[in-house]
Amino acid sequence: MRVVRFHEYGGPEVLRLETIPDPHPRADEVLIRVRACGVNHIDVMLRSGRLRLPGQQPLPHILGMEVAGEVIAVGDRVQRVRVGDRVLAAVVTCGACAFCQSGRENLCEERRMLGTHLPGGYAEFVTVPERGVIRLPDALEFSQAAAARTAFGTAWHLLIERGRLRAGEVVLIHSASSGVGSAGVQIARLAGARVIATTSSEKKAEALRALGAHDVIVYTQHDVVAEVRRLTEGRGADLVFDVVGGEVFLQSLQCVAKGGRVATCGAIRSDQATINIIHLFFREIEIIGATGSTQLEVEGVLRLVAEGRLRPLIDRVLPLSEASQAHRLMEEGQLFGKILLVPGE
Ligand SMILES: [Zn+2]
Repeated sequence: MRVVRFHEYGGPEVLRLETIPDPHPRADEVLIRVRACGVNHIDVMLRSGRLRLPGQQPLPHILGMEVAGEVIAVGDRVQRVRVGDRVLAAVVTCGACAFCQSGRENLCEERRMLGTHLPGGYAEFVTVPERGVIRLPDALEFSQAAAARTAFGTAWHLLIERGRLRAGEVVLIHSASSGVGSAGVQIARLAGARVIATTSSEKKAEALRALGAHDVIVYTQHDVVAEVRRLTEGRGADLVFDVVGGEVFLQSLQCVAKGGRVATCGAIRSDQATINIIHLFFREIEIIGATGSTQLEVEGVLRLVAEGRLRPLIDRVLPLSEASQAHRLMEEGQLFGKILLVPGE
């Protein structure tokens, strides 16, 4: 099969299109023909070597954490999934640890992600343990599923589950033109919140307003903290959605209302920030970590996408051979929505 791998950490150019033997499913695995694979920031961080996780694949490494496709073979012990099923795969959990048993399997002690720990979807075929497979609603296209899974699952988990967003609250969403940000705007609207979004250009701001953001701050032209204060009559946002980290995380702490919450699920810009602890306790600000999503949450957002109530934004679809270009675009930050890779011809 054709596959994109990297043999060394480095820039986008280390991604190489190669031909390797087709994988075969083990007894508890299914073989999926990849129809669409989402490109995520974690791919860029793993490729560059900036992120190293225990148990990640040895080199050469196959990226791609959200894979939509059809099942073309199943192992002897597979029971739930059949050949021909349209499925989505991303994460494999153990099903037995305390987190799995209490419905918080996003924290599973043995959680393995496609593209990080297991070979991912930058390939024509991928094998996945049956436990990691979700069946797709009939109304959902492969591209929609691959574009929605991580962005909407993560945004839902952060805003609704961890962030406890309620109708009438003000939510600030940084980098709202990203996949997860644009998902956050839509989910926050659906939840009845007032949405303030930030983005880098007036053109993107227009698109975010069309998507449902009530107010958009172009951060290259305006002071985000001052604008949030102005828009909330000095109060600040009840909840801040931060995927950027670094300096922006410090801004988040200044934009949040007294008694409010700052929730983070990423550190695209930087994983370091020095915070003022006095500011934190005097104002009773809550800092919340959020990672991934549960299977129930993913099934829920996929249903909403299938019903047309949430709409994954796809900036572009590229052939697998252009994976390097996809990573360059991710790094330049000029996208509006997701990039997908498709194996194609
Ligand atoms: Zn577990």
